[in-house]
Amino acid sequence: MSDKKRKPASSSAAAAAKGSSAKQPKLTPAKEKAGGWLQDLMKQQRTEKKGMKVNKKRLRVLSDTGKIKQGSEGVLYWMSRDHRVQDNWALIHAQQLAVEENLPLHVCVCLFVPKSELSTLRHYSFMLKGLEEVAKECKALDIQFHLLHGAAGDVLPGFVSDRSLGAVVTDFSPLRERLQWLEDVKKKLPKDVPIIQVDAHNIVPCWEASPKLEYAARTIRGKITKLLPEFLTDFPLVEKHPYTATRTAKPVDWEKNQASLDVDRTVGEPEWAKPGTKAGVEMLESFIDVRLKLFETQRNDPNAAALSQLSPWIRFGHLSAQRVALQVQRSGKNSGQSVSSFIEELVVRRELTDNFCFYNKNYDSVEGAYEWAQKTLKDHAKDKRPYIYTREQLEKAKTHDKLWNAAQYQMVTEGKMHGFIRMYWAKKILEWTSSPEEALAIALYLNDRYSLDGQDPNGFVGCMWSICGIHDQGWAERPVFGKIRYMNYKGCLRKFDVARFEQKYCPKNL
Ligand SMILES: Cc1cc2nc3c(=O)[nH]c(=O)nc-3n(C[C@H](O)[C@H](O)[C@H](O)COP(=O)(O)OP(=O)(O)OC[C@H]3O[C@@H](n4cnc5c(N)ncnc54)[C@H](O)[C@@H]3O)c2cc1C
Repeated sequence: MSDKKRKPASSSAAAAAKGSSAKQPKLTPAKEKAGGWLQDLMKQQRTEKKGMKVNKKRLRVLSDTGKIKQGSEGVLYWMSRDHRVQDNWALIHAQQLAVEENLPLHVCVCLFVPKSELSTLRHYSFMLKGLEEVAKECKALDIQFHLLHGAAGDVLPGFVSDRSLGAVVTDFSPLRERLQWLEDVKKKLPKDVPIIQVDAHNIVPCWEASPKLEYAARTIRGKITKLLPEFLTDFPLVEKHPYTATRTAKPVDWEKNQASLDVDRTVGEPEWAKPGTKAGVEMLESFIDVRLKLFETQRNDPNAAALSQLSPWIRFGHLSAQRVALQVQRSGKNSGQSVSSFIEELVVRRELTDNFCFYNKNYDSVEGAYEWAQKTLKDHAKDKRPYIYTREQLEKAKTHDKLWNAAQYQMVTEGKMHGFIRMYWAKKILEWTSSPEEALAIALYLNDRYSLDGQDPNGFVGCMWSICGIHDQGWAERPVFGKIRYMNYKGCLRKFDVARFEQKYCPKNL
């Protein structure tokens, strides 16, 4: 990396942020806007920020050397978590690095399907179709897109040597498997090739938001909010790359890749969620135009269409949370309190989950809970449960509780469950299984296998919050739950029209 050629990024980013709000074009009210307005607006915004540098605090050099290998033939972005071209700080940085050194730019994804009950068509098809869009966009921008087959540690270092690539840029995830892939790559990468990690997923980079495990939303909120003026900036455009590779990428046969996926095909693709960035932007646009104004008052009503529904696109990196936050803030001026309530979920709650998984290696086990929670769960481990169900009974939605069954059935068939019901659903698993350890394992299994947005820090924390009191406080002690917050059917009856929900989602013959 030739640092000397770069201006300090943080100041320019802050200046750009200020400039961007001042120059923001006036938006017409939602009902007068034609569909598709958001795509054009975003393009215009990115073009205005062309050349804006990446804030250096977003980057971490993970190798001994930070300097691009001299005499190399390109820069590589190893796309791991954030599957999109535009609004991706890792790709923006990789392109800027390549341009500084007059080099071609490559993007690669390592397609690796673990042998697991969690490897389903639902998830891998969504991912591959999103990548197909990425590949098309790359082609149009003269960026070489490579789909490598195998675990990153096995295929990426050889690919780098074979193509004489001079630097690897990658994105960030706090999850165990991904950290392991990164370690494997680091070990085998030629020592003179730097590896640079960019947090392209969080608005405030995880390591900047906090250097430690945060206790709750209230302890991280102020830290994130203070840093938003610096990090919640516009994005510069990823442009047509000026240096063409002499050795181009092998074209990908997407249909063949889809057909040969070694996944569980019984968990199919839901109709409501079209994969890819374009579809994600359409969902964001409809949220801003139609649902955002209802978010504040109706977000806890599972019968209302008030939520964004954006979690799958954010989870797969098809959509940047930063882009969502920017557009909602700008376009939602008439939506009052809804904007701040939504930003609390999208920014504070979501980024808290990366903090949890990054700083707590037991993020998916009861041992990862606070001492008070572990103690209270242990104290009540032998309490008599009102019902005991097996994993299979739960998976098939065969409980006595119609609301629970409806929620479970919707998750299995549609790949989604409303945020409010998710809490009730997980807490009932604690109540109806023989131990908190078993409850957590079952909740994670079901969520990660069937929810399209599963296998994400949000899911680990959602289940840990519900069952192990993570980021919550102790409540009045009661059987089974101890001091973990309790939820019950009666409470749901007070909150929303339960019968309507059951009728809609619970098949009569279940
Ligand atoms: C048991 C349980 C399991 C969960 N599993 C997942 C999961 O696998 N994947 C997932 O993305 N979320 C999960 N959540 C969090 C939350 O329920 C979902 O993010 C939300 O329901 C997604 O719908 P939406 O996009 O319409 O959300 P909106 O309410 O419109 O929120 C916008 C975005 O903010 C973020 N967000 C919202 N609520 C939370 C939250 N409580 N914690 C962290 N981030 C949040 C998400 O990225 C979401 O897309 C879980 C929660 C619980 C209680």
